[in-house]
Amino acid sequence: MIYTGSHLSASKGYLSMGKKALELGENTFAFFTRNPRGGKARKIEQQDVDALLKLENENGFGKLVAHAPYTMNLCSGKENVAAFSANMLRDDMQRMEFTPGNYYNFHPGSHVGQGAEKGIEMIADALNDAMFEGQQTIVLLETMSGKGSEVGRNFQELREIIDRVNIKDKIGVCFDTCHVWDGGYDIVNHLDDVLTEFDKVIGLDRLCAVHFNDSKNDLGARKDRHEKLGEGKIGLEALRRVALHPVLQDKPFILETPNDDAGYAAEIKLMNSWF
Ligand code: FE
Ligand code: FE
Ligand code: ZN
Repeated sequence: MIYTGSHLSASKGYLSMGKKALELGENTFAFFTRNPRGGKARKIEQQDVDALLKLENENGFGKLVAHAPYTMNLCSGKENVAAFSANMLRDDMQRMEFTPGNYYNFHPGSHVGQGAEKGIEMIADALNDAMFEGQQTIVLLETMSGKGSEVGRNFQELREIIDRVNIKDKIGVCFDTCHVWDGGYDIVNHLDDVLTEFDKVIGLDRLCAVHFNDSKNDLGARKDRHEKLGEGKIGLEALRRVALHPVLQDKPFILETPNDDAGYAAEIKLMNSWF
C-alpha cells in the first residue's frame, strides 16, 4: 500500500475533490462518475479537470478509482434498465478520458433470475460495446458479496466476463475486502490462499485496486454491509496483513467505510502508520 484514499463527494467538481483528498491526508480517491442513485451526470469543465491534474502531479497522486452509479445494471432482465445502463457505461467511458489513465470500477450487475451465464454474457456485450481502441481508462470489475443475484460473487464469474472482453489490456478487477469476506473468501485466516486462488482463476496482474473495508457480517454471509476498520468481523490485524501483503503494494487502497471526514482522516493515518 502506497496510495490511500477514500470515497469523496463529486458534487463540487474535480479540483474540490483533490483538495479534500489532500486535507484528509490522501494521495488517491474514489468518486461517483454521476449521481449514484439516479444516473444524471454533471457537465465536465476542462478548467476544473486541468486544475485537478496539476494538483495530482504536484502531490504525487496515484491512479483514481472512479465508481459507476448503483443504478447501473448491465444484466437487468428489464430491457429499458439494461439499455439505460449500457448508455451510462458508454457515456462514462467517454467522460473518463477527461482524466486519462485512471480506473473505472463498477458492480458487474444482478441477473435477477436470468442466471449468471446470461448475466455474464450481457455484461461482456455491454463492455465490448462501450470500450474503444485507444482508450486510456482501465475498467475494473468489482468483486461482489453475492447478495441476491449479483454476478461476480466469485473469482470464476469475473474471469468469465474478462474472457469475453475484447480489449484485454484495459480490463481488471477491484478487490473489495468486505465483499470477498461476505462472499466466503477467508482473508482473515487464509489470506495467502485467497490471493493464490485469485491468481489461479483471474491472474494477479489483473488485480488493480483495493476497496478497503471491514464488514458487519460473518464470513460467507452474502450481505455486503461495510464497517469501519477494526470495528467489524474482519478486524484490524487481518486488514493490516492485507495492506502489507507484498502482491498488493503499489495498488490504490480506497476506504468505503461508514465515516465522516474526521473518521476517514483517522483511518488514513492509521493505514500509513503501518509502513
Ligand atoms: Fe462498489
Ligand atoms: Fe466496494
Ligand atoms: Zn459494498
